[in-house]
Amino acid sequence: MGKDRIFLSPPHMSGKEQQYIAEVFESNYIAPLGAFVNRFEEHIKLYTGVSNALALSSATAGLHLALRVLGIRQGDYVLASSFTFIGSVSSILYQNAKPIFVDSDESWNISPALLKEAIKKAPKKPKALIITHLYGQMCKLDEIIAICKEEGIYLIEDAAESLGASYHERQSGTFGDMAVYSFNGNKILTTSGGGMLVSENRTWIEKAKFLSTQAKENYLHYEHKEFGYNYRMSNVLAAIGVAQMEVLAARVVKRREIFELYRKNLSKIDEIQFMPEIEGSCGTRWLTTLTFDKTNPQDVIEALEKENIESRPLWKPMHMQPLFKDAQVIEDGTSQRLFEKGLCLPSGSSMNEEDVLRVCDTIKRILV
Ligand SMILES: *Cc1c(COP(=O)(O)O)cnc(C)c1O
Repeated sequence: MGKDRIFLSPPHMSGKEQQYIAEVFESNYIAPLGAFVNRFEEHIKLYTGVSNALALSSATAGLHLALRVLGIRQGDYVLASSFTFIGSVSSILYQNAKPIFVDSDESWNISPALLKEAIKKAPKKPKALIITHLYGQMCKLDEIIAICKEEGIYLIEDAAESLGASYHERQSGTFGDMAVYSFNGNKILTTSGGGMLVSENRTWIEKAKFLSTQAKENYLHYEHKEFGYNYRMSNVLAAIGVAQMEVLAARVVKRREIFELYRKNLSKIDEIQFMPEIEGSCGTRWLTTLTFDKTNPQDVIEALEKENIESRPLWKPMHMQPLFKDAQVIEDGTSQRLFEKGLCLPSGSSMNEEDVLRVCDTIKRILV
């Protein structure tokens, strides 16, 4: 028989999940409300320091609510990192608004210089900016926040991959006007699927809660003045989330250790460069990512697959997607180059040292 498969980022349970789910069944709150939904929100507030949190069915839903609450409508422009996952920006289309994509810089995250240029060249003043802390690494927030303040643009953090990351000791998701975390099956923590919308602004989170539960006015017969969505998180899944939050700190430490192990074993290879971490920050290293100067990453993916190891290219930038062929973009080739040269390695927090060495040995074998 072959060796066990090593997945990219599989779920990693703490062991308490089923006990909490049993409590949900005892209470019979098998619904998108209940004690565990509240507890999950309290955990996020306590860990990150944010004042208001709303548990949802996904981070994508959270970004949709954020744009709706901030009044982004048809014809409005929304700036966004181009180097990201589609869930980061599809909400712009849900609102019939127009994206303006901004390329990355040497940090792999959005370039503040290109962001300024994008604002200058926009057909009309953009209303919001969605930044992604890619692979759990913090963006250059000092510069980005200064630009948004000066221009009067709302800042939304896509912290789907960066729950537990910090910048000058402050948690990701607490810098923007609003932010989202994701609990999809492949993230740092998972509820199988789920998300959290957070903000310092209580009114916005209350409005988002109203919209996430079908925009029912406060009458027994359900009166409707506007339309909403069915975006709340199930109490059953929130029970998983509470158990997962109890081990968040340990999960981040473990992902960073896996990165260090890869670095120790692969950094002597000249053509390999790892994703950098900007000064004053501590990322989650959600995925260990790197680029090859010469080798085609596709060859590495195939060699790893033969060893029953899952790996994947970096995100394909949004401005290279057929869906956005007519969208505006300010780019200088950075994220395109990263996409063409880069690779994500298995990085799940349940990996052991032997697994990491198995990946490294396979890579070394084909590079020499
Ligand atoms: C996973 C992810 C999302 C979407 O999260 P869901 O909870 O699956 O909707 C959005 N943005 C980024 C950067 C992601 O990695």
